[in-house]
Amino acid sequence: MITAANPGPNRALAHPKDFILLLEGVNKAFEGFKAITDLNFALDEGELRIIIGPNGAGKSTMLDIITGRTRPDTGRVEFGRDTDLTKLNEYQINRLGIGRKFQTPSVYIDHTVFENIWLSLEGSRTVWSTLFSRISPAQRDRIQEVLKTVGLTDKANSKAGLLSHGQKQWLEIGMLLAQNPKVLLVDEPAAGMTDEETHKTGELLHSLEGKHTIVVIEHDMTFVRQLARKVTVLHQGHVLCEGSVDEVQNNERVIEVYLGRKKKA
Ligand code: ADP
Ligand code: MG
Repeated sequence: MITAANPGPNRALAHPKDFILLLEGVNKAFEGFKAITDLNFALDEGELRIIIGPNGAGKSTMLDIITGRTRPDTGRVEFGRDTDLTKLNEYQINRLGIGRKFQTPSVYIDHTVFENIWLSLEGSRTVWSTLFSRISPAQRDRIQEVLKTVGLTDKANSKAGLLSHGQKQWLEIGMLLAQNPKVLLVDEPAAGMTDEETHKTGELLHSLEGKHTIVVIEHDMTFVRQLARKVTVLHQGHVLCEGSVDEVQNNERVIEVYLGRKKKA
């Protein structure tokens, strides 16, 4: 019987507080180069978290580890109460509800915006089977809802290849949302965007908060300020500090890492 005194095998994974995602003591080396070193990271459900850090800090590798693209050498990577992600492959992790958006948008350029979302809906499989099947009213409603969320309603019938860079990024976020993920990992969404597109992206991410747990990797500090949520600073594969935007911007070690000098007294 599983009791508090005899918690059973799964309790080994449980923590005093339940996080939706937890990394503990994670290490990863590539041919001797330590990309991730003793990384600890925890996310609350519904949170919008920003990760910053210099180039090569290990930000993308951290997402690779969460999504099963890269296996950690050591450490725990857990989803929810008792799912050990290090035992699962990329596909299985995605099916659990962890969606990732890479830096460069990858959309079906010869299909319309509407079709792109349709192809991404939960349960949709191949381009062939989707586009030659009949769309249900429920699917149509869901697609319209996603298009509205990402601000592409009036582009529904445009070929995705004709969208601006920013619009392609939103479409790809929409394609992720169509799968209704619990956790959304977004790598540098504002890279290459105009200021106006960047601002709209911030509004989009805020609108998703609470409905999904979101991790945003970013280095545009204006954008980070707009998001105004807890920031984790990665440096050399390790968390250097965590806190509000102001706290991390005034942190001596962060200033040293970013600017290569000590803060003036
Ligand atoms: P960031 O996203 O913070 O800029 P990355 O996570 O992409 O940093 O990279 C961290 C370090 O790990 C870099 O030095 C990078 O060259 C190295 N790295 C990442 N992935 C691999 C890989 N698959 N093979 C070899 N080295 C890698
Ligand atoms: Mg990166």
